[in-house]
Amino acid sequence: MGELEHKFEVDIKEREGRHKLSDDVKAEMKKSGLMDEKGKLKLKGVSPKMLKRMKQEFVECPVLKEDTHFIQCFVCPNFQSRVMGKVLCKGDKL
Ligand code: SF4
Repeated sequence: MGELEHKFEVDIKEREGRHKLSDDVKAEMKKSGLMDEKGKLKLKGVSPKMLKRMKQEFVECPVLKEDTHFIQCFVCPNFQSRVMGKVLCKGDKL
């Protein structure tokens, strides 16, 4: 299979502690069923261990031009896959 078409390869960075998702993002995720009413994430195929790690990660998003929580990035329509510490991002306008 050919390589997925993507515009950006964005480094995934890590920071200490837990980081909260913004209320806007949470509301979006609840609407699309990725989070329940209590704020628990419901991501398919993501183990609790992986989730814990994802909560500490962020990307410097080239589209939003700001630091973006990895979980927000993971559910973003531009997200294609995660390869070797990088996000393959379609780079479309959001
Ligand atoms: S997938 Fe979305 S959040 Fe992640 S880097 Fe691309 S545009 Fe930004």
